[in-house]
Amino acid sequence: MSEDCYDYIVVGQGMAGSCLAHQLLEINKKILVYDVPENNFSSTVAAGIYNPITGRNLVKTWMADELFPYLTQFYSSIEKESNTRFLNDKTIYRPFLNPEEQNDWMGRSSDPLFSDYIKKIDLQPKEGNKFNDAYGGLYLQKSGYLNIPIFLGVIQSKLQAIGAYKREFFEVEALEIKEEEVAYKGIRSKKLVFCDGVGGAKVPYFEHLPYKHVKGELLEIETEGIPEYIVNRGVFMLHKENNTYKVGATYENTELHNGITEKGKNQLVKKLAELYKNKYRITNHLSGIRPATKDRKPFVGLHPKHKVLGIFNGLGAKGVSLAPWLSSHYVQHLEFGSKLNREIDIIRYLNLLI
Ligand SMILES: Cc1cc2nc3c(=O)[nH]c(=O)nc-3n(C[C@H](O)[C@H](O)[C@H](O)COP(=O)(O)OP(=O)(O)OC[C@H]3O[C@@H](n4cnc5c(N)ncnc54)[C@H](O)[C@@H]3O)c2cc1C
Repeated sequence: MSEDCYDYIVVGQGMAGSCLAHQLLEINKKILVYDVPENNFSSTVAAGIYNPITGRNLVKTWMADELFPYLTQFYSSIEKESNTRFLNDKTIYRPFLNPEEQNDWMGRSSDPLFSDYIKKIDLQPKEGNKFNDAYGGLYLQKSGYLNIPIFLGVIQSKLQAIGAYKREFFEVEALEIKEEEVAYKGIRSKKLVFCDGVGGAKVPYFEHLPYKHVKGELLEIETEGIPEYIVNRGVFMLHKENNTYKVGATYENTELHNGITEKGKNQLVKKLAELYKNKYRITNHLSGIRPATKDRKPFVGLHPKHKVLGIFNGLGAKGVSLAPWLSSHYVQHLEFGSKLNREIDIIRYLNLLI
């Protein structure tokens, strides 16, 4: 293979591009990754929490039994290889809202569907002087958070060390698509995969896909004496360092301009007041945009007409838990022809491609 010919060009090095790049390097593919970290709207803002039981109704998250064992093994192996720590296994504490919820979870705790993820249940207030947890709460396990900036930095260094990284905006207009390969500014590649987050909605080849991005805002606060575990009820409180905690996040899908707002801050302050009793000081306010989809399932696959073009996007609010397993599943499809899970395969939107 000539010097300027690659197996894969990967556009974007957020959670999607980083996990995909790692999987491709594991099977010795020659890759080139383009990224503009300053334009990252999602991975660099995210709290990085992975949580098997989510949503207002507290249900087991999609594919949890596959995703959660895989993510631990995936991130831990990269930690080992890089001698860097970024995966933090942490209990999540969810105070119950009322006796009904308490009863419901007492019942569910023996259900094999949930029992693996439940560490314990408290029927009495545990942290009553700090949190509104009059009915006790649920402690989840197999949960925690990924320090995303450190993880992205490790992958970037690995790519740089082998000359596989370009800190450069990839101009789609300059892309030439041929039957068997793509060409771009003198570089050739057998395939190109867009892992470009919210930017992906503007890529002509995939603009038919129904994105539904969701903006999110976060606060950083200083306060004292919160337990080490993640507390989550309406908002999450995640220990960052010293006395600093992240509090988030909002979900906004109409006003999608990136930037912090008073409305976002007020929402978080209000929800925090319902959960947390102690005094705190706001030290920072952040915002980002989740690359989400209308049917809440990721966009994975190859373009139906241009088989040299792929996409790995739409990770929504769960990039940390989805990206490891999905990137492995995708590479199995790309390299070994295994079938893609129909729920994530972009073929489901073939009828939108004119
Ligand atoms: C406030 C907030 C809180 C969140 N909290 C969590 C959480 O706790 N847990 C969780 O799992 N997820 C969380 N998320 C969601 C998570 O951030 C996403 O699921 C995930 O990071 C998306 O990763 P991505 O790689 O698809 O996109 P991105 O992180 O957006 O990465 C895309 C990259 O592609 C680059 N790019 C785009 N176009 C080009 C181009 N033409 N040329 C070169 N580079 C390009 C961009 O610069 C960017 O770096 C949160 C998101 C927000 C906004």
